[in-house]
Amino acid sequence: MSYLQDLYQEIILDHNKRPRNCGKLDCATCQANGYNPLCGDKITIYLRLEGDRVQECTFEGNGCAISTASASLMTEIIKGKTIDEVKELFERFHDLVTGQEELDELKTGLGKLQALAGVREFPMRVKCATLAWHTLNAALRSEETPVSTE
Ligand code: ZN
Repeated sequence: MSYLQDLYQEIILDHNKRPRNCGKLDCATCQANGYNPLCGDKITIYLRLEGDRVQECTFEGNGCAISTASASLMTEIIKGKTIDEVKELFERFHDLVTGQEELDELKTGLGKLQALAGVREFPMRVKCATLAWHTLNAALRSEETPVSTE
């Protein structure tokens, strides 16, 4: 498989061209900024939590196709999920893109996220694919511990 076939599948192209949930969320309860210096991707994640459930998630960003598509896919899949479910998804997604687990084993439950599995062949691109998730984690941490010196 070529680089393009592997990475720029239809789903990724589509989400890069027409990102879902893109824009500032005025009623956000937490947010965080992320930056991937290896590629220059920048992203802001906005979250609105009710209890431990994600009611809404949007993003603003300026990055490559992989980082934009990954953020777009992420905002779709985490909506309505609990924080614990989101954390579990991130672990499985991380395993998917870093090649820690067999692809088939992970396919169930990750839905469209598996479109990003191709980045496992390109270590530089893993950072692009996980940037939105790391930023989401930071937003969740800021919610859990509003005051932090770190
Ligand atoms: Zn990138």
